[in-house]
Amino acid sequence: MKVMVAGAGPAGLMLAAELALAGVGVEVVDRLPRRSPFCRGFTLNARSLELLDRRGIADRFLAEGPTVPYGMFADPHRPLDLTAMDTDHPYVLGIAQTRVEELLEQWLAELGVAVSWGHEVIDLDQDGAGVEVTVRTGGQRGRRRVGYLAGCDGSRSAVRKLAGIGFPGTAAGTYGLLADVELADPADLPFGMTDGAHGTVFVIPRPGYVRIVLDEPAPPADRDEPVRLAYFQQRLNEVLGRPVELRDPRWLTRFSDAARQADHYVAGRVVLAGDAAHIHPPAGAVGVNVALADAVNLGWKLAASALGRAPAGLLDSYHHERHEVGARLLRTTRAQAILGRRHPDLDPVRDLFGELAGLPPVNTYLAELAAGVSTRYDPRIPGEHPWLGKLTPNLKLVMGEQRTSVAELLRPARPVFLHLGDRALPTIPDGTVDIHHAHCPDHPELEGLLIRPDGHTAWISTTTDPQPADTLAAAWSTWLGTRTTTRTAAAPGD
Ligand SMILES: Cc1cc2nc3c(=O)[nH]c(=O)nc-3n(C[C@H](O)[C@H](O)[C@H](O)COP(=O)(O)OP(=O)(O)OC[C@H]3O[C@@H](n4cnc5c(N)ncnc54)[C@H](O)[C@@H]3O)c2cc1C
Repeated sequence: MKVMVAGAGPAGLMLAAELALAGVGVEVVDRLPRRSPFCRGFTLNARSLELLDRRGIADRFLAEGPTVPYGMFADPHRPLDLTAMDTDHPYVLGIAQTRVEELLEQWLAELGVAVSWGHEVIDLDQDGAGVEVTVRTGGQRGRRRVGYLAGCDGSRSAVRKLAGIGFPGTAAGTYGLLADVELADPADLPFGMTDGAHGTVFVIPRPGYVRIVLDEPAPPADRDEPVRLAYFQQRLNEVLGRPVELRDPRWLTRFSDAARQADHYVAGRVVLAGDAAHIHPPAGAVGVNVALADAVNLGWKLAASALGRAPAGLLDSYHHERHEVGARLLRTTRAQAILGRRHPDLDPVRDLFGELAGLPPVNTYLAELAAGVSTRYDPRIPGEHPWLGKLTPNLKLVMGEQRTSVAELLRPARPVFLHLGDRALPTIPDGTVDIHHAHCPDHPELEGLLIRPDGHTAWISTTTDPQPADTLAAAWSTWLGTRTTTRTAAAPGD
């Protein structure tokens, strides 16, 4: 059955592409007449690049901007060293969110799906077999019946509200102001952090302009009231204790430290991803990245559900796996926001945290946590191997004369079974799984790997930790809904 994706931001575009790759009919609608020109984020982290790599499109993004081997966690004066991360991409990529979206939309078009701009989801009604969605286009309302509706419609998600999904969390306590502007005299304000007479100003260089971020002194009477240049200018001068002239505003907005998470990511035939499922303080700058990771976790599960071949509980596993990641994200970004507050009472905590973050293992832990590199899902089978449940490393593989890699084999977004050792392993030929016989020269101890379409290790067997056939059978039926048989896979080279 067809899936409708509401929202053509990073979550919606990535999800739609994953569905299209799986052969599911998909319709993407967005209420805006065209993509917003305002650029919220401008970084992609290691996990996003790893995922894009596993679809063969990371290079398109990497060609767009610089890679930076350090990242801010809490204190801009003490950046994290990202080179210590266990990843192919030990850096952040500088790339405008608008460009990320353009590249994703382009890829989606190559997969045969065009975004329907100017289409707003305004109502839904679901039953056991599908969802009736009301969409407003211009002045017209139309109803469509789809198998599933994915709410990728941002923090104020209409889909979330219409489906009656709760969004508990902490309300906004503090607000920040953001301006993309030009400095009349660039020498007036350096890039980075400037401590003024009454607070701190953060200046980020952008091509042809700067992004200035500062605190709003008190919660605004109306959170949605537009921020005017005069107001921002006045606040900047107050914080610095001196005048700094701004001009040519491109975008002025406010943001808050609200942190909320949908209590269900899956409600019947309605699913949520990205900001629709969780909002958090912008500290850490990971929203785009988490949206992409949600979409890749959800895509193959929703596709299997729409195609009627999902094992029981597969779609719910999206909620269990990503809700846990989202909860950790909220905790981490709230801690970052608190550590970023300029209050003298916090100085000792910040100093101590800074010292700890300077210890190499803590640096690596924080870097991998913030970039999502350490994400591990419950594998649901026993086993001690450290890769179990985590993204399978991008192993170099030899298949006869051919050299390939895990990332290349995952491009079609299908499950991959790798038979790597000489020992015959039980398996079944199944049309939904790509089975490869290969050697992995860097890891001769590997005997077999079952990799989910999102790249996570579902099962692994090594010569030192040979896994019994029943754990493979359990992994296979949990994620693929099929059973292994007694048929034995041929050894490599056969
Ligand atoms: C100031 C600021 C700075 C940020 N900086 C960064 C950063 O540096 N790095 C980073 O990773 N993240 C950053 N973020 C967060 C990031 O922008 C978001 O987390 C990200 O855009 C979420 O993607 P999404 O696809 O879930 O939602 P969105 O990008 O919000 O997309 C939702 C889409 O749904 C559409 N829509 C809404 N309602 C409907 C409806 N009823 N029907 C149809 N369509 C609808 C909207 O028009 C929109 O196109 C920042 C956010 C802010 C506010």
